[in-house]
Amino acid sequence: MKGLVMKSTGSWYDVLGEEGVTYTCRTRGKLRLKGFKTTNPIAVGDYVNFSIDEEAPEQGIIDEIKPRENYIIRKSVKLQSQGHIIASNIDQAILIATLVYPRTSLGFIDRFLATAESFRIPQLLVFNKIDLLEKEQNDALEQIISIYEKIGIRCLKISATENTGLDEFKKLLHNKKSLLSGHSGVGKSTILNKIAPHIDQKTSSVSDFAQKGVHTTTFAEMFKLDNNTFIIDTPGIKELGIIDISPEELSDYFPEMRELRSECKFHNCTHTHEPKCAIKDAVDTGEIAESRYISYISILEGDDNRR
Ligand code: GDP
Ligand code: ZN
Repeated sequence: MKGLVMKSTGSWYDVLGEEGVTYTCRTRGKLRLKGFKTTNPIAVGDYVNFSIDEEAPEQGIIDEIKPRENYIIRKSVKLQSQGHIIASNIDQAILIATLVYPRTSLGFIDRFLATAESFRIPQLLVFNKIDLLEKEQNDALEQIISIYEKIGIRCLKISATENTGLDEFKKLLHNKKSLLSGHSGVGKSTILNKIAPHIDQKTSSVSDFAQKGVHTTTFAEMFKLDNNTFIIDTPGIKELGIIDISPEELSDYFPEMRELRSECKFHNCTHTHEPKCAIKDAVDTGEIAESRYISYISILEGDDNRR
């Protein structure tokens, strides 16, 4: 039978079968996709083939993992060739951000986008709590949105408490597996409660300011919104803010820089001190937003601007 891995505890997996029944599955021996050295062979989002245990009809054995379209991996600090796959086959990575209470920094947003880009996952930025914005703050938000729309990132303004934009948000989720991320307090639980009241959130990253840092689990869990619509909630998603890429590679994950970097004089230009750098020129002319360049430099220098 074919199935989709909804939850992993490390040795047991909840697998959703095609007819909508969830089976608890184990693996038989070693299951590995070529080229991966992962501490977990199976991840949330994996499509698998499994067979049902005849003696225990709600249990199964996973026989095969289908090749992954993409995956988020957290590399082992000790062993760079090893890692833990957080989730796979993700259609979009969604960041819930807020301009106020709390403010999501542009540095954090850019780090999130670049990380998702490096995993080849399309991104969506959702700005919540727009009901709290004064006119000037709303103008500032519009400016921020124009920076991201210019580089091809879809943005949405919503208010979870006022039900503004939630229908459109739901449409953007439809028939996709979306990874939902954002700092504590931005309104993730409120949003999920509104769009999917049936989801049991006790295991999800329900959190408030006081609880920051309590959720240390690194196992993601996927929730079904409807037949083909899923949300991946990753309690330890702060990890998504860490990218591990070489300096020459980093500008590949900034779409507006990727387009221009071939015009730099040096093919291995890091766009910092080098002369005749097309990217620095574009920052000077305003073609590339200064805030994006600042984020780029900050990631390059390894600053921890995850907050
Ligand atoms: P989480 O940590 O991301 O899950 O955030 P919560 O969903 O727990 O929300 C944190 C706080 O923000 C709660 O007090 C919510 O009521 C509030 N909140 C969430 N969305 C909105 C919104 O759109 N507008 C306003 N004014 N408050 C919101
Ligand atoms: Zn350059």
